[in-house]
Amino acid sequence: MQITENIKRIKAELPENVKLVAVSKTKPNEDIMKAYQAEHKIFGENKVQDLVKKYEELPKDIEWHFIGHLQSNKVKYIIPFVHLIHAVDSFKLLKIINKEGKKINRKIDCLLQIHIAEEETKFGLSENELTEILVSEEYRQSEFVKITGLMGMATNTPDEEQVRKEFARLKSLFDKIKNDFFSENKEFKNLSMGMSGDYKIALEEGSNMVRIGSSIFGARNY
Ligand SMILES: *Cc1c(COP(=O)(O)O)cnc(C)c1O
Repeated sequence: MQITENIKRIKAELPENVKLVAVSKTKPNEDIMKAYQAEHKIFGENKVQDLVKKYEELPKDIEWHFIGHLQSNKVKYIIPFVHLIHAVDSFKLLKIINKEGKKINRKIDCLLQIHIAEEETKFGLSENELTEILVSEEYRQSEFVKITGLMGMATNTPDEEQVRKEFARLKSLFDKIKNDFFSENKEFKNLSMGMSGDYKIALEEGSNMVRIGSSIFGARNY
């Protein structure tokens, strides 16, 4: 019951233009089905093996998002069905997604992950690396990837001002990139930022896609 209530409450409080990705990683199919029965169809996973298994076992109208660090050698397993890859954190990975998409003639929606946190441990591109990709000839000829926005993760800290600053920086980068590279392209529109602990701040700073796990499904025991 808890899951149903949680998802309804969170959806009711999100502004209409904001997409909720319910992060179901480590959670069983029964839990996902509770959210599904509450009319929610968008779920996020961060392990390829788990995502493929859940895709096979669960209803086919679920929109599956891959939200974690994606290893190049595993790209091919999710290419046939993945709806959005949130965390493309290298040019190399983008090229492999393009190559695998080409093999099955499917264009893959991707977000580029930007490194906004102070923590070294988090993945993501710097602003320079991002620009290098977007100006490159190879990217321009990559017909099987579609970049629909940016994604970022803030520092894991109780310091709300720090988190707010990082999200604000990502939003201003998003606006700049949209203006410089995608001004004619309505499909560049997603700004994926905010998780259970910081999504309210992310929304205030301009997020339109939040990835929420534990506030819906409860704490994870790994
Ligand atoms: C696990 C995870 C989330 C959700 O985290 P919660 O704190 O449980 O909401 C969001 N984004 C990414 C990339 C994750 O790996």
